[in-house]
Amino acid sequence: MGILFGAEPRLRRMTQYWSATALLYFLFLSLLGHCAALGLIDAGSMRALERYAELGIVLFFALVRFSPRLGLKPTTLAALQALFGISCNMWIYSIAGPMRGATLMGLMVVVVFCTFAMRPRQNLILTFTGLVGMGGTMVWQHVRDPVHYPATVEGVTFLLMALSTVAVAFLTGVMSTMRMRLKAQRAELTAALETIRVLATVDELTALANRRHMHAVLADEERRASAPGLPTCIALLDIDFFKQINDRHGHAAGDEVLRQFAAAARAELRARDVLARWGGEEFLLMLPDTAPGDALAVLARLRARVARLTLPEVAFERALSFSGGLTARAGGEPLSATVNRADKALYQAKSGGRDRVVQA
Ligand code: GH3
Ligand code: MG
Ligand code: MG
Repeated sequence: MGILFGAEPRLRRMTQYWSATALLYFLFLSLLGHCAALGLIDAGSMRALERYAELGIVLFFALVRFSPRLGLKPTTLAALQALFGISCNMWIYSIAGPMRGATLMGLMVVVVFCTFAMRPRQNLILTFTGLVGMGGTMVWQHVRDPVHYPATVEGVTFLLMALSTVAVAFLTGVMSTMRMRLKAQRAELTAALETIRVLATVDELTALANRRHMHAVLADEERRASAPGLPTCIALLDIDFFKQINDRHGHAAGDEVLRQFAAAARAELRARDVLARWGGEEFLLMLPDTAPGDALAVLARLRARVARLTLPEVAFERALSFSGGLTARAGGEPLSATVNRADKALYQAKSGGRDRVVQA
């Protein structure tokens, strides 16, 4: 299937559309073939038309299938297909004898196809081309055989066809505009939804999970069965003397410290660990399936990393540090209880002199 229709979804869709169109052509041709068998259409002319249509169908299949390699744009292909459709319609009209009026329906199919495949201007040009082509065929038939193609019949047929074609082109044009507007609106909505999702879950300053999202993460974690013997560890981290940084170096420097702290912490964590901005300069870290000893080691590495943080043009009075309260979830307790315990441990770390992690 991939070799026949192409592997790329858009290309596959185009070749499949053309295959469906080819089926329609074959149905038209077989119906006309029956008319030829009944003697209503000249058999020789019918055979010639069949050769022309079959050749066109195969040629267009190849053109569509290899259009990326040939550098053929979908609109160019569609315009060529429409011209082919118009030429077939002209040919069929010339040989269909008394059934020729009914064959004009084929032109409508071409017009509708154009609306979906091309821009409104190109569509107008092709509709006009179709009308000129069919009008020319009628005039030519009348000149060639005025008895079977009387001027009044051809004239009225042409006018009816022209009016219907223009109306169909107009209506399908309106539909196509609506379709395009809907498509644009859908793209806007998708983008807006993504923005809302980011706004609702991500902290703007640090790009970490925000408190609201962390609540959802904790709720999910509570439902998850953790690995045997490896609990979920929770740590609350709070930057030391942060108010001083703001006061002495400005709020912007404070913001930059928060950003750098977040980036440094992320760099020390596994993909499964979640770090959230829990409050101003306070962070909640969740380490799933982690032995408390390993969690302590992670926090020790993070403390060393944070101590090395610098800001351009800002001389800190002391190395940047944070205090932490660490605890492991006990049994199946609610994670809010674990967070409370971590908070108490953090308080102890602060009152114990800061720049340390207390395990509870
Ligand atoms: P401690 O060592 O006891 O933690 O003292 P601290 O100064 O770090 O803590 P405190 O709670 O007294 O002050 C926290 C400060 O963080 C106060 C607040 O203005 C500041 N802050 C909160 N959010 C932000 C923010 O988004 N940006 C900046 N620049 N400052 C913030
Ligand atoms: Mg603080
Ligand atoms: Mg604080």
